[in-house]
Amino acid sequence: MAHLFERVTIAGPGLIGGSLALAARAAGLVGEVVGLARSAETLAEARRRGIVDRASSDPLDAARGANLLVLAVPVRAIATVARQCLPVLAPGCVVTDAGSVKAPIVRELEALMPPGQPFVGAHPIAGTEEQGPAAADPDLFRHQLCIITPSAQTDAAAAGRIQALWEGVGMRVERMSPERHDDILAAVSHLPHVIAFALVNAVVAAGGDLPRYRGGSLRDATRVASSSVEMWRDILLTNAAAVDAALARFSAELERLRGALRRGDEAELVRLLVRASAERRGWSRES
Ligand code: NAP
Repeated sequence: MAHLFERVTIAGPGLIGGSLALAARAAGLVGEVVGLARSAETLAEARRRGIVDRASSDPLDAARGANLLVLAVPVRAIATVARQCLPVLAPGCVVTDAGSVKAPIVRELEALMPPGQPFVGAHPIAGTEEQGPAAADPDLFRHQLCIITPSAQTDAAAAGRIQALWEGVGMRVERMSPERHDDILAAVSHLPHVIAFALVNAVVAAGGDLPRYRGGSLRDATRVASSSVEMWRDILLTNAAAVDAALARFSAELERLRGALRRGDEAELVRLLVRASAERRGWSRES
C-alpha cells in the first residue's frame, strides 16, 4: 500500500520529531525518513534508535526530494531551517511544523513559500520535560490533542494530509486560527512553565539549602522547570504579548489570595480555594 508520504525529512529528530517519525513508521504512514540536526550526537542517536534511515547536518542533503518536511526544531529556528531546505524539496512537498507558537510562524512561513509549496501549521499538544532523540517515544501522541492552524492561504488538500498524519499516530485533531492557538496555549502551557521557572527561583531565593526539604507539591509544581532552556526561551519570546496577558491574570489571582491572607479574610480565602479545588477535581475526572 502507498504511504501517506513517501520521503520525509524530519528537521529536528528530537523528542517531538523523533516520536513522530517512530510512530508514523510503526503505523506505515511514511516511507524513507531522513533526519536533519546540527550535532553528530543527535544524528547518531536518531539512527541508533531507528528514528531515521539516514541523517545529515546538511539541509540540502537531508531535504533533497522530500514529499514532507517536518520542522520540529526550536521555534525561532523554524523559518531559518525552512529557508535552508526549500531549494531541494520535491515539487508539491508539504511543509509543516510542530512549534509551540503558531501565529508568527504561520505568517513567516507563508511569506517564504514559493507558489505551489503548501505550508500547514500544527502543534501536537504532547510532550515531556525530556529532550533529544533519546527521549523519543512512539506512543507519545496516542489519545492526545493536535491543533492544526490553517489560515486563509492554507491549501485544503495539504491540511487534510497533515490531519491524516497526526490522526494516524493516534491524535485527535482540532483546527483553529493561529492567533486563537497562541492565546490558549499562553494560558494553559506557557504560563505554567513561567510559574514553574519562577517558583524554583523563589524557593532558592528563600535559602539555597531549602530545596533539600522539598516534598511532592514542589516536585509536581516545578517538574517542567527542567525543560530545555533553548526551547522555552524561543516560545516565551515569540508569544510574549499573550504570555504577558496570561501573567497579568495570574498576578491578579495571586493578589486576591494575598489580600485575603493579609486581611485575615477567611471567607474570601476559602471561596478562592474551594473554586480552584472543585475545578481541578473535575479535570482529574476528565483525564
Ligand atoms: P528537542 O527534543 O530539543 O529536539 C529539537 C531537535 O532540533 C534536536 O534534535 C536538535 O538537534 C534539533 N535542532 C535544533 N536547532 C536546529 C537547527 N538550527 N537546525 C537543525 N536541527 C536543529 O525539542 P522538542 O521538544 O522535540 O521540540 C521541538 C519543537 O516542538 C519545538 O518547536 C517545540 O516548541 C515543539 N513542541 C515541543 C513540545 C514539548 O513538550 N517538548 C510539545 C509540542 C511541541 P541538535 O541540537 O543536534 O541540532
